[in-house]
Amino acid sequence: MPTVYLNGAFLPLEEAHVPVLDRGFIFGDGVYEVIPVYSRRPFRLADHLARLQASLDGIRLANPHPPETWRTLVLDLIACSGEEDLGIYLQVTRGPAPRDQAFPTEVRPTVLIMPLPLGTPPARLAEEGVGAITAADNRWLRCDLKSTSLVANVLLRQLSVDAGCAETILLRDGWLTEGSSSSVFVVSRGTLLAPPKSHLILPGVTYDVVLELAAGQGVPYALRPIPEAELRSADEIWLTSSTKEILPVVRLDGRPVGDGRPGGLFRGLHAAYQEYKRTEMRGGGS
Ligand code: PMP
Repeated sequence: MPTVYLNGAFLPLEEAHVPVLDRGFIFGDGVYEVIPVYSRRPFRLADHLARLQASLDGIRLANPHPPETWRTLVLDLIACSGEEDLGIYLQVTRGPAPRDQAFPTEVRPTVLIMPLPLGTPPARLAEEGVGAITAADNRWLRCDLKSTSLVANVLLRQLSVDAGCAETILLRDGWLTEGSSSSVFVVSRGTLLAPPKSHLILPGVTYDVVLELAAGQGVPYALRPIPEAELRSADEIWLTSSTKEILPVVRLDGRPVGDGRPGGLFRGLHAAYQEYKRTEMRGGGS
């Protein structure tokens, strides 16, 4: 039974309980992060904590802890887990209060940190690629906030499960936004493209890592809006996230992407990503 952290206490998962009036349960009034841990080192923790702060600011909820406290709690939980590689799930809600949409006058946030299996895709998927489908992005207009209100993402993700695919790639008014739980990159005429950060996409930590690695490798890239036609005629499409890392999409809506195999730019960046992870594990940045 894994140990979790709930509101100041470390306890077994089965003993961790939240009141039914918690606003996270009633309204989805909370935010979260998922942080990959390799060889017991949280990967890009500072970036995740900065995004947590931005999400909390976005929902007007005071951060219950300074970054040093978050770091200590995360490291303590990694030590409790005994695992080398895992995910750390961290959630803050506006806490329990009588049911009323307006903020309670006295807020007692609920803080949960728990270990998750990392769920990194098997190496085979990077070699063979995955299928994806497209769907209209019908989420709200603050997709930059990592909110626990995920019912739209849940429904969109299930469409790809129903279609036997790895992800649903979203188009808003004919423009690529992102996946239901990942960022999306496109390679077109030798240039790596991604939609620029805006309130319509989550600022992915892996998105930043991929762009840093692309710059380091001299891969030309541009951040600009990507129309649907450019997605459909792309030479390569990649999904990125903390748990998926970088995955090549080789079929989109049943049609081959490029020649239907993972592309050359993908292979270079995927290798660079694995090398960067190894550097971080040896005590590089974060
Ligand atoms: N977009 C969405 C909607 C996501 O859920 C995720 C996964 N957190 C991402 C992008 C990728 O973000 P990251 O690279 O920080 O995991």
